Amino acid sequence: MQYEISKEKSAEYLRQAIHHMSMQDAAFHPVSYAVWYEYSSGEHQRLIEEVNTLIEKEKKLNEKSTTDVFNKHIASIDPDSAKVLVERFNQVVTDISTSTAKAGQDSTQFSKALNAWSEEIQQLDARLGAQLGSLVSETVHMQSSMHQLQQKLESSLHEIDELKHEIIKAKQEAISDGLTGLMNRKGFDVTLKECLENQPQEDVCLVIADIDFFKKVNDSYGHLFGDKVIQAVANVLKKISGDFNTAARYGGEEFVLLLPHTTIEAAKEIAENIRRQVAAISIKNSVTQRLISNITISLGVTTYQPGETSHSFIARADQALYTSKAHGRNKVTLLTQDFATA
Ligand code: GH3
Ligand code: MG
Ligand code: MG
Repeated sequence: MQYEISKEKSAEYLRQAIHHMSMQDAAFHPVSYAVWYEYSSGEHQRLIEEVNTLIEKEKKLNEKSTTDVFNKHIASIDPDSAKVLVERFNQVVTDISTSTAKAGQDSTQFSKALNAWSEEIQQLDARLGAQLGSLVSETVHMQSSMHQLQQKLESSLHEIDELKHEIIKAKQEAISDGLTGLMNRKGFDVTLKECLENQPQEDVCLVIADIDFFKKVNDSYGHLFGDKVIQAVANVLKKISGDFNTAARYGGEEFVLLLPHTTIEAAKEIAENIRRQVAAISIKNSVTQRLISNITISLGVTTYQPGETSHSFIARADQALYTSKAHGRNKVTLLTQDFATA
């Protein structure tokens, strides 16, 4: 689901969605809003057909049928669209909530004035006083409905807040690696693309690193121990990458480090530092209680060539890594131009 429509058009859908929502049994919340927003936009043909059939059969949509439609047609929504949807709904509810609160205050004042007035008139004319009395109780009734509505809106706002946090969390989880807490490949690819789009005239360097003979580590000490090694290497990268660089787990035992505003000389120093710190790692083997410390990593470093694609940038860093492997591992290799053009 994508939202690339004008503000005027979306405001129109929004009004229609609110109108439809108010006619149903389901409460006002982001799920029903999403269903009716999609319905109003007229683009989601299958959703429209299903909603129309439901209305024909059952007159109104209740909580269950609304949620069913949402799950069937909208649940696969991507986090970005969900964020837009929730923000819009939040705005709608906040606006209604503010005007309801204002109306509630106005009616309280009105009711107070009426009350005072009716007491005065009661003493002058009992019949008129009684009529005013019923007006007062109507106003009080209206006030209590306003109050209820206000409370419902506030709980909707609370739900929206929770939904927002869930979306932020889902977005974060989608780009992070579960084992190490580093960014994953998907997140890194997006970060790299943004970096190259935003600052192609600055020095941008890339380091690709791969743990040496990792299959042997797994074979010798087991997969769980292998996982600990991956985590320890990730910790080295986290420590070294700092606030401005992006470290990611690019694959099984392969890592990348994007270094914007960094010269190739500085990048080489950083890569050397990683290599040294990984070689210094020692982890206790929980089976034998012995410290294992012969872990090494090979690295390739390159600098971005203006105009090239991210693919060729990565491929060159990979060539450099391959050279480190071919020359005995536990090494850093620098490659500023492709083999073919060097
Ligand atoms: P090289 O020095 O050439 O890189 O040799 P290598 O043994 O490190 O490379 P190879 O690609 O042959 O093996 C990588 C191994 O990494 C194989 C795979 O089972 C292991 N691996 C991949 N992901 C994980 C993981 O999440 N945890 C563990 N424990 N092992 C993993
Ligand atoms: Mg390896
Ligand atoms: Mg590998």
